Amino acid sequence: MLNIILFGAPGSGKGTQSEKLIERYGLKHISTGDLCREEIREGTALGAVADSYISKGQLVPDDIVIGLLEDQLKRCCTKPGLIFDGFPRTLVQGEALDQILAKYNERVSIVLSLEVDEDELIQRLLKRGEVSGRSDDNLEVIESRLRVYHEQTTPLKTFYQNQGKLVKVDGVGSIDDIFASMVSAVDQLFVKA
Ligand code: AMP
Repeated sequence: MLNIILFGAPGSGKGTQSEKLIERYGLKHISTGDLCREEIREGTALGAVADSYISKGQLVPDDIVIGLLEDQLKRCCTKPGLIFDGFPRTLVQGEALDQILAKYNERVSIVLSLEVDEDELIQRLLKRGEVSGRSDDNLEVIESRLRVYHEQTTPLKTFYQNQGKLVKVDGVGSIDDIFASMVSAVDQLFVKA
């Protein structure tokens, strides 16, 4: 199976690029952000807990998101593969993902890291906030999300670099050019295989 992690700061374009990768490779989309928002919409107890973190720009606790991911994989760990969008976000989650995939005799194939500078990220998120209606797309929460990203999520880059899986992609430019860079990195996997 082709299991892609789409990695990058909030606003780096993970959602846009994951849609295109899904279309190209027929992958199943797994977004822990979407799973959390679904729980909130349905008014579940778990959703209420998730909301209290999301609205402050903090990470939802590892055990909650790992549980949501495991449930999702039980339903859809299928060929040709998966794309993880916004997961993992901590080292604990990265290690858990390796263990969960191993239960299905699977592994992470590649980690595509969208690289975008901080000023551009803030501009993009503020612009998205004007239309998204997301409670976490306002300046105060955006700054907190970016701080959390640097403190808790970037250590995963070294984690995946050490596994030889990290590919950095310039996330500034046209959507199609960025997508082309990703496709060329993914297609390299098939050349090597
Ligand atoms: P996203 O839609 O990926 O930008 O996620 C929105 C918010 O959901 C994040 O700012 C976090 O509060 C929460 N969230 C999503 N995925 C995770 C995760 N893997 N770990 C912890 N919190 C998450």
